Amino acid sequence: MDENICKLIQRTPAGIPLLDLHVHLKGGLTLEQTLNRARRDGMVYGIAVNCGRGFPVQDDAAALAFSTGMQGHPVFVGMQAEGREWTSVISAHAAGEFDYIFTDAMTWTDDNGRRMRLWIPEEVGAIPDPQSFMYTLVARTVAILESEPIDIFANPTFLPAVLAADYDSLWTSERMELVTAAAARNNVAIELNDRYRLPSKRFIEIAKAAKCTFTLGTNNSGPGDLGRCEYGLRIAAECGLGADDFFIPGASGSKAAARKSEAFLNP
Ligand SMILES: [Zn+2]
Repeated sequence: MDENICKLIQRTPAGIPLLDLHVHLKGGLTLEQTLNRARRDGMVYGIAVNCGRGFPVQDDAAALAFSTGMQGHPVFVGMQAEGREWTSVISAHAAGEFDYIFTDAMTWTDDNGRRMRLWIPEEVGAIPDPQSFMYTLVARTVAILESEPIDIFANPTFLPAVLAADYDSLWTSERMELVTAAAARNNVAIELNDRYRLPSKRFIEIAKAAKCTFTLGTNNSGPGDLGRCEYGLRIAAECGLGADDFFIPGASGSKAAARKSEAFLNP
């Protein structure tokens, strides 16, 4: 991490750092284009690479090559951990070379042994019992927050398309409280995600009451959908979030990779 990068971060009048920690070099978007965009829009970015079995980075060598390639540029270097096996393919040492790590609860295996990626309708299939599905989703999410060495919980409260219309009734306040309490206990910040426009205002209010911190994250798929965190900034303003409510990598406390180093299979 560039020592001076924190000085580059601009803030809204309410004090919210203009820091997008979920930017991918995907769909032809180059680092140079991204840096030009950051300067133009007054943003600082965290550039994240997807790490885990079946992803572009699935071993230490590739992870370290990515983080080394980002050194010297005015960006934070992020690892997006994928699937639940990532701590067995990436070592604590390699993970520690990143400024921050995030994951989401969009890939998990249900009690019948079915591994699902929630954004792929064919893998999710029909959900005959949405309440039972929600019970498992909350349990898996809490387990991730409790056990995995992550700094940020991304794409929070994402539901598969077949359930998305019932978000407000399925995400009961009680379920939200279980997730936000686990995030707060483990110092995991909650991402305000622009791609999916998640989480909802009610979730953010419950998370704030639980003393969670937050981040802005676009989760772009290419150059065309890298905006200026319009959803995150709007919903943060609506919820009255300010300077102290936001997580900045390295600004306070230890990294999750160090805090939970025992979670990795290899040191
Ligand atoms: Zn992502």
